[in-house]
Amino acid sequence: MPERFSPSLQQKIEDRLRYCQDLGIDFFYKNRAGNPAAFVEETGIFTAPPAPSAAVAATAPPRPQPAAGKAMPAPPIVAPPGGPSLFDEKIADDSLLKIREDLGDCTRCKLHKGRNKLVFGDGNPKAKLVFVGEGPGADEDMQGLPFVGRAGKLLTQMIEAMGLKRGDVYICNVVKCRPPQNRAPEPDEVETCSPYLLRQIDVIHPKVIVCLGAVAAKTLLNTTRGISNFRGEWLDWRGHKLMATYHPAYLLRNPPAKADVWKDLQKVMAELGLALPKKSKQ
Ligand code: URA
Repeated sequence: MPERFSPSLQQKIEDRLRYCQDLGIDFFYKNRAGNPAAFVEETGIFTAPPAPSAAVAATAPPRPQPAAGKAMPAPPIVAPPGGPSLFDEKIADDSLLKIREDLGDCTRCKLHKGRNKLVFGDGNPKAKLVFVGEGPGADEDMQGLPFVGRAGKLLTQMIEAMGLKRGDVYICNVVKCRPPQNRAPEPDEVETCSPYLLRQIDVIHPKVIVCLGAVAAKTLLNTTRGISNFRGEWLDWRGHKLMATYHPAYLLRNPPAKADVWKDLQKVMAELGLALPKKSKQ
């Protein structure tokens, strides 16, 4: 055994621990026993669309909402009615264009210093389904588009597995500029940037919001609870149905967790009235 880890191994371990921490997994070994059934179920998921692409319909009847925090003796997660800050009031005649213009060549937080391109968001401005990630990575920073790197390719597969195309949904992030070394955005950066995310969601007015990972979930829900405590549960966010699930980057590191995410996405599909794949267990 070497006395010290190589810098690249050390970086990998740190990244991995950060993801576990983000997910509320305090013990590194928690998922390592693996679930063979889940692993088998996971194999091949996100590879073949179960149905031809369909426009997301908003016709599904409202479903009863399970109590948040059911599995844990913790207080239910209740999103703040107005939003964390700054734009507590809705802006009259707001639009994605206006929000982009307001951001401009943003220098409001320190992330602008390392930015190549600001990553505003992408997709259908009238989408019934919005995915919210954490912040741009290197590929996104280069292209100015969200989720175009490895995690983005997996997200695209997930969307297609739902019978949708990327262009059917809207994809954006909590922070619009890449954090250095892909670190998690810091609280001041989230506080500065998230009002623009809230405006984007208000303008798009989706039926369902899917938070990809802990940063998005914690930002919108204003909670410090680990995402694994409420992942896959329907929550209310200012009148929208919100579900948090694991981040695609986490799935790249922990493929067996794809089975959990697929279960979550099937709930989203049911809510949106999308056909579930025939061989699905749910
Ligand atoms: N991860 C994110 O959270 N967002 C992106 O846009 C890309 C990777």
